[in-house]
Amino acid sequence: MPPVTRFAPSPTGLLHLGHAYSAQFAAEAAGLDGQFLLRIEGIDGGRSRPEFEAAIYEDLAWLGLEWETPVRRQAEHFSEYGAAVAGLQRKGLLYPCFCTRSDIQREIANAASAPHPPLGVFVNGPFGPEGAIYPGTCRHMTSAEQHQRMDAGTPYALRLRMDDAMTRTGPLSWHDEVMGEMHATPDIFGDVVLARKDMPASYHLACTWDDALQGVTLVTRGEDLAPVTHIHRLLQALWSLPTPQYHHHALLMGHDGKKLSKRDQAPTLRALREAGKTKEDVMKLIGFDKTAHVFEGHIDLG
Ligand code: GLU
Repeated sequence: MPPVTRFAPSPTGLLHLGHAYSAQFAAEAAGLDGQFLLRIEGIDGGRSRPEFEAAIYEDLAWLGLEWETPVRRQAEHFSEYGAAVAGLQRKGLLYPCFCTRSDIQREIANAASAPHPPLGVFVNGPFGPEGAIYPGTCRHMTSAEQHQRMDAGTPYALRLRMDDAMTRTGPLSWHDEVMGEMHATPDIFGDVVLARKDMPASYHLACTWDDALQGVTLVTRGEDLAPVTHIHRLLQALWSLPTPQYHHHALLMGHDGKKLSKRDQAPTLRALREAGKTKEDVMKLIGFDKTAHVFEGHIDLG
């Protein structure tokens, strides 16, 4: 079967060379017979902007990419994500968490200094790939207490009972074209948030749901996102969704050896275009042999 791939940017800033690399990579991975999809991951209403979404279409078209239409815009599908959340709730796998960031930090500091830290709270230490692991404060709240807080209007997120979820699915694995056969250890993240306080979804939930819904058969993305696949694989099993293949590609590096990012030297595609660069110049800059690339810095925008 010809592959179905996707590029899934968040419209929270202008695309830079690293995005050009990822988009081109996904389009090439689809090949001539496959399908290349574009998905706008704009569930974060606070950070997403229509002008950044417009710039995504403009920049990708400038690079000569063509994608299937209609484009899936996650911000239009909250009710579907809500239904996906409800499915996990019915299985008893979610619990409301009323903690603020500072509650969590305080709790972690207390647990670390306690003579006998609570067993089972930190599987692999207090930090996971996304930072501090949730110490489980709201996990054992009675339903009376939960309802009292909800009735008082206290905002809450929904977290996954990681151990129960893993018991339910049993051992899981997936195939990564770079790393080979991978065994899922999503517990390195602890009880992840699947529905945020400010929205009935999260990146993990919406991304996993949509990859399956859109029939993506090969997920390509930067290797910085490789760890999240542990969570995505677990969600696929909980929802009985198919598991795509994965290819976590090397990141385009700056000459300082760090990942190119908006914050530092990465020139945006728009800036390059406005400086008179062509798409051929961009393709040359990002190279295309699917190995680690070193961005040789200094693009003369003058
Ligand atoms: N929206 C994510 C980002 O821009 C990409 C997610 C993915 O490719 O899975 O970082």
